[in-house]
Amino acid sequence: MDPALGPPDAMAEKRDELTPMMRQYHDLCARYDDALVLFQVGDFYETFCGAAERTARLLEVTLTSREDSTGEYPMTGIPVDNAESYIEELLEAGYRVAVADQIEEPGESPGVVERAVTRVITPGTLTEDELLASDDNNFVAALARDDGPERTLALALLDVSTGDFLATSSSSTEAIADEVSRFDPSEAVVGPDTSADPLPEGCMVTPFDPDAFGLERATETVSTYFGEPDTLLAGDAEIRACGALLEYAEYARGGAGDGEGAADEGAEATDRETGRLEYLTHLTRYDPREYLLLDAVALRSLELFEPRAVRAREDATLIGVLDETASALGGRALRDWLRRPLLEPDRIEARLDAVEELTGSVQTREHLHELLRDVYDLERLIGRISRERANARDLRSLRDTLAVVPEIRERLADADCARLRELREELDPLADVRELIDDAIVSDPPIEITEGGIVAEGYDSHLDDLRGTARDGKQWIDDLEANERERTGIDSLKVGYNSVHGYYIEVTNPNLEAVPEDYQRRQTLKNSERFVTPELKEREDEIVGAEERADELEYELFCEVRSAVADEVERVQALADALATVDALVSLATVAAQYDYCRPKIAERGEEASDGLEIDIEGGRHPVVERTQESFVPNGATLSPDRRLAVITGPNMSGKSTYMRQVAQIVLLAQVGSFVPAESARVSPVDRIFTRVGASDDIAGGRSTFMVEMDELATILREADERSLVLLDEVGRGTSTADGLAIAQAITEHLHDEVGATTLFATHHHPLTELAEALPAAFTLHFEVEQREGEVVFHHEIAPGAATGSYGVEVATAAGVPEDVVERSRELVAENADEPGGDSPDSRRRANDPRVPASTDGGSQGLPDDVAAELRSLELAHLTPVEALTELDRLQRLLEE
Ligand code: ADP
Ligand code: MG
Repeated sequence: MDPALGPPDAMAEKRDELTPMMRQYHDLCARYDDALVLFQVGDFYETFCGAAERTARLLEVTLTSREDSTGEYPMTGIPVDNAESYIEELLEAGYRVAVADQIEEPGESPGVVERAVTRVITPGTLTEDELLASDDNNFVAALARDDGPERTLALALLDVSTGDFLATSSSSTEAIADEVSRFDPSEAVVGPDTSADPLPEGCMVTPFDPDAFGLERATETVSTYFGEPDTLLAGDAEIRACGALLEYAEYARGGAGDGEGAADEGAEATDRETGRLEYLTHLTRYDPREYLLLDAVALRSLELFEPRAVRAREDATLIGVLDETASALGGRALRDWLRRPLLEPDRIEARLDAVEELTGSVQTREHLHELLRDVYDLERLIGRISRERANARDLRSLRDTLAVVPEIRERLADADCARLRELREELDPLADVRELIDDAIVSDPPIEITEGGIVAEGYDSHLDDLRGTARDGKQWIDDLEANERERTGIDSLKVGYNSVHGYYIEVTNPNLEAVPEDYQRRQTLKNSERFVTPELKEREDEIVGAEERADELEYELFCEVRSAVADEVERVQALADALATVDALVSLATVAAQYDYCRPKIAERGEEASDGLEIDIEGGRHPVVERTQESFVPNGATLSPDRRLAVITGPNMSGKSTYMRQVAQIVLLAQVGSFVPAESARVSPVDRIFTRVGASDDIAGGRSTFMVEMDELATILREADERSLVLLDEVGRGTSTADGLAIAQAITEHLHDEVGATTLFATHHHPLTELAEALPAAFTLHFEVEQREGEVVFHHEIAPGAATGSYGVEVATAAGVPEDVVERSRELVAENADEPGGDSPDSRRRANDPRVPASTDGGSQGLPDDVAAELRSLELAHLTPVEALTELDRLQRLLEE
């Protein structure tokens, strides 16, 4: 057990003797025993004992101590005012943080100040803007398993900051793991019967109250939010995951006022009421099969959200090249579209229509972009408003966004396509909400909501009266000095104010004679006396009273307005959705126009999966690579049910990997509803993209074991079908050449004969090209290199047929390796290519063993034995050009010796 969590032992032993405050701390630690409790004492959040030692070290703050009659306890404090950055570090160190605030003013009631946990901050339930990435969702997941014969596993996903809430389920743990990697939750809540199997590393696993996962209780929880769960969700496991997740979100939100004893059964009903999260208004149940499936490997290797290479620029990703959104809302929408490309041609076409129309007018696009820049993050804003964490400035931000909406509608007034017209209708400017905020809240309110200055003049007559009273009183005091000077004839008489004594009239000692009867002495100074009059006192009380009551009233009015706005949560969310969609579409259109993308034609999906895929791309480009270098050579791709397996060969660095990925990315972009980097493209929607990048090419991923490679291959062979697009990049490298080739060959045959998936296979195993020529639906493609004036030139141009395979040798020639060595290399290459088993362990042993005569002689004549033997043992197919050069250079030196 982490000593930073739970009630400190040193306190637990003598709980009943602790001071009331320390007992409060002890009890909160006991109640929130999986979180590090930050305990407000005035301006600081304190931690004690084990938690204090831990936080002091983590946050590099001073460890002090606090003493009471029961002993001395280590203590560490962080300032309440900028707690966020400290909390962030605690989260990064893997802690959940329970924030226990003082929920009454000191002295408000006798005894110790009341404190309650107002929020539990965990990686998955953040709502603090400071801790969240604005253009990305932050999900917390829940997993629940159904005990029925199907053993269904359900996944619920919630973004507490935006209210996005999704659920799905599957009988396959792998399918759920794929969904988990799609949404990349930062935390997952698990019940008693769920393992963390489908969860990736780096995802915090939070075991939660097993009762919350109970079917009956979960059904009730879900129905209080969304109505009958049976009509919304498929199966008990989904209900249990959603119910538990809702309860967890409520728990994380904390319940102000539910101090001691709230965990009792009796208090539960009210507890739930206070914890309810009103802005969770939608629960979307989906089937993973509604979207193009991308597993974790595909997400990574197609570089959707993260670059593959360790040193790559951070924006060298698909989202990096596509994201020209103006608002956080649009940024998140675009990420969601990429994460879940569509399958339905109609839905794809609807987006494409909108993108096409928007590419047509630079002016509309730019104007919309400008307007959208003024759109605040409405989803998180309304979330805060609804959780009663919004201040008056937040309301003004909402109002400012609403003010832009009519202009955005105006820009879409002449829209032709159905989608844009629909969006225009959905852009509800919420005139009533805007008017309310305009009327109620001043245009530049302070951050504090309890100190007045928030509510506009004329909104509430009682408030106006109070303000009037205060103002009149102040005016009376302003006039007092002149009036009293006249009445008393004391020219030096002054009216002043100090915080201890309030208003006073000051008369210097020489004039004390002239002081009238009604003056009452308050304070004697060295050269003067200070007085008050009963009337002044009365006025003063009136002013202070009116101001205090005005502040209180303002706070009440503000809360009323905030809650009235919160009542419109669904409309605000619908508006946010529409704005997000417009922004994402404008972004796609901007990229399409700027980078010369074309509209893809979406082929109808055949009735049967076995109808297979049509992909026809002319002049295709890799969307990310083309941005990172000066020039890019476009390449086409033509794949169809009877030409569906391409074996691609070519030297290292000639462009094989780039080519395969660009084909997959173009298909993916088309299904997102984006234009694509090509001269023309026709694609039928793909159900699933599988990628397997050979171990040697995946060092960045740190998963370079042969086992992982085979594991992923097994998945592909098991799950791919005629509607899958499979990319295999240098598969079969993680083992001996003979094994590797054998496996590559068997895989090719299986994919071709049994699976029928559309496959691109880049390989260094040249015998595969012969196999491809022999299989009816397979064909070969290759990249050539040329040597010119001793330099190797990469054309990056794809062509039919197989590569010659002797590129390494060409490079050696270019580098000036002696002619006889090169000759011998050519022969060896030819030999290996002739017989598929040419580089089997057997033949290699022969080549290495000086007692076994080489199968051909001649070339090696005249070479010393050791050099010849080394040369023979070189596995050319495994060498990069540079390695080949280094090796040859070494041999050359050996010869010179
Ligand atoms: P391979 O997989 O054959 O070893 P890559 O696909 O990794 O080769 O490409 C190597 C490099 O060549 C890329 O990083 C890129 O800079 C460049 N390249 C690849 N394809 C093209 C192309 N079509 N046009 C221009 N440069 C390209
Ligand atoms: Mg490669």
